[in-house]
Amino acid sequence: MRTSPKVKIFIWNACQNAIPTKENLWKRKILPDPVCDLCRDKVESVEHTLLLCPWAAKVWNYPEINLRVDAHEVKRIDEWLVQFIRRNSHLPSLDRIANLLWQIWKERNNFVFRGTKPEVCKVIDLAKFQQASYQKWGFRHTPEQKFEEQQISLTWQAPKAGSFKINVDGSLCEGSMEGAVACVVRDSSGSLIDGFTKLVRAESVLQLETLGVLEALKYLKEKKVGEALVETDNQSVVNCLTKEEEMNWQARADLFECKSLLQQLPLVGLTYCPRSANAIADWAARQQRMKTLPPRWWASPPLSLWTLLCLDAPPTGFVVSAV
Ligand SMILES: [Zn+2]
Repeated sequence: MRTSPKVKIFIWNACQNAIPTKENLWKRKILPDPVCDLCRDKVESVEHTLLLCPWAAKVWNYPEINLRVDAHEVKRIDEWLVQFIRRNSHLPSLDRIANLLWQIWKERNNFVFRGTKPEVCKVIDLAKFQQASYQKWGFRHTPEQKFEEQQISLTWQAPKAGSFKINVDGSLCEGSMEGAVACVVRDSSGSLIDGFTKLVRAESVLQLETLGVLEALKYLKEKKVGEALVETDNQSVVNCLTKEEEMNWQARADLFECKSLLQQLPLVGLTYCPRSANAIADWAARQQRMKTLPPRWWASPPLSLWTLLCLDAPPTGFVVSAV
């Protein structure tokens, strides 16, 4: 199969029934029900989510794919794929099928975790694009591999072995200065090591996000953590602290404090990550602001946090062992 390693791993996990569908999470008593969130009709098994859910069926029925997926014929996805390989060549290639399965899963996750409506055409276009890019550039050390890396970095990336990553985010009440910041500490295996939040007052989003970074840096100094990366989804904070950019006056004092701490912590870096890679810190900050954050949330995560952790875990989301 000529497709990227992450797609191969995803297909492998799907065939092992080891992707976090609602059925698999329900069997593990992580979710209260196994029903598909998209159709609200059937149990969300691997086969249902990737092949049979009405919106996924539309992808397979789409004229340029034209693959009829019959619910009576599909028992297991691995058997379905084997049958597909045995059939003839006028069907779409296996690479194409693999990329489509991966994009359907990503689109399903976008719906479940971000509430965006699944789009059949988008899935088909992305799968086609991904296949074409890989066929053209899918070799090591090509400049275009950066494209692939950029795509991967839309999700949370674990820090390198022996170091830590703190994701930081803030949440502000609309029309008020009351808010909260949250810091989530994870190690190279993606395990939650620690987490803390603080209620703050901020005059702007920039100040709020700066206060988050400040809390993370204070923590790193206090705990004498060696190598660590602080990650925020606010590009302005990163620019103010890493480039000689004009400092916003509202956040000036806090930015100066951050700069001074960064100088004292030579093994600590600060980077920007997209919002999609910062979901857990965002969750914790919002829960804290709404005063609904359970105590020791990082040590025994509630369901809503669990599902976000599933999404963050490489490479296909949280991998449950075959059930
Ligand atoms: Zn469904």
